Amino acid sequence: MFDVLIVGGGPAGISAAVYLKRFRLNIVIIMKDYGTLAKTDHIENYYGFVEPITGTQLVENGINQAKRMGISIIEEEVLNIEYFDTFTVKTNKSEYLAKTVLLTTGASRSGLKVKGFNDYVGKGISYCAVCDGFIYRNKRIGVVGAGEFMLEEYEVLKNFTNELTVFTNGVPLSVDIHGATLVSEPITAILGDEQIRQVKTSLASYDVDALFVAIGTPSASDFALRMGAFLKNNDIEVDETFMTNIPGLFAAGDCIGGFYQIAKAVSDGAHASVAINKYLRQKASL
Ligand SMILES: Cc1cc2nc3c(=O)[nH]c(=O)nc-3n(C[C@H](O)[C@H](O)[C@H](O)COP(=O)(O)OP(=O)(O)OC[C@H]3O[C@@H](n4cnc5c(N)ncnc54)[C@H](O)[C@@H]3O)c2cc1C
Repeated sequence: MFDVLIVGGGPAGISAAVYLKRFRLNIVIIMKDYGTLAKTDHIENYYGFVEPITGTQLVENGINQAKRMGISIIEEEVLNIEYFDTFTVKTNKSEYLAKTVLLTTGASRSGLKVKGFNDYVGKGISYCAVCDGFIYRNKRIGVVGAGEFMLEEYEVLKNFTNELTVFTNGVPLSVDIHGATLVSEPITAILGDEQIRQVKTSLASYDVDALFVAIGTPSASDFALRMGAFLKNNDIEVDETFMTNIPGLFAAGDCIGGFYQIAKAVSDGAHASVAINKYLRQKASL
């Protein structure tokens, strides 16, 4: 069992790992890709670089720094985290156990950029099958997504209804789905009154009572929501020690909101590491 499992290998995750390693804790980083920094080729406001650096180069520097210090980095996608005194982290390839988890998965989740979507979040549009699926038992449920994250949500929703429609929104399906109606063309609008009623695509309209969103990869707020951690405007709520309301679940960087900058993410990671070390030492001494 790891002392600390860090989800995310961006500035917040690597910064935390560097400190945690020096506290001689047994840690691991799980990351799926280069995160937000892969989207920029020009960073010139971060300390210590005379010339501008690309985001990709900065992430690679961080990864190499961590590896040089003997920190294990696993390149997998975290799909779910369960909490029962300790944490079980499920990825697309394996399962890991940890005493604490630090979420550093970057800015929050993906929605649909179509007319009506934002109007119906919380009015039939949900980001959490475990939290809200039961409300729509025996109703017409849609789920948006095309990969393993969608499959996770689909498996939960299957328990509540036989009327399931999977909307891949124009993305090729990468998992096997049995028993659901499959709609593969892009979604163009969400319609309803006080509740969602229809999903409109480029070819037709589909009646639904609820729509669950599971696009791409689960974000920190998706994990947090499923575990019962508090969110504030889609950001994970943490206290001054970067701990959520769930004991041992910490979060840092863009996923807790605030100033979306590398310097802030690095600072969050460093502060969170000190708090995690203290938390583990206190727990061990009880
Ligand atoms: C276009 C653009 C330009 C920017 N330019 C600047 C700039 O010039 N200067 C500046 O200071 N800031 C800039 N930023 C902001 C900066 O990139 C972020 O503030 C910073 O990267 C946040 O770090 P983070 O560690 O919180 O998250 P990220 O850097 O987003 O890292 C997230 C990590 O989590 C991992 N992850 C996510 N989900 C999962 C999952 N389910 N399973 C496993 N791993 C997962 C990712 O693989 C990644 O390793 C820019 C952002 C953008 C979008």
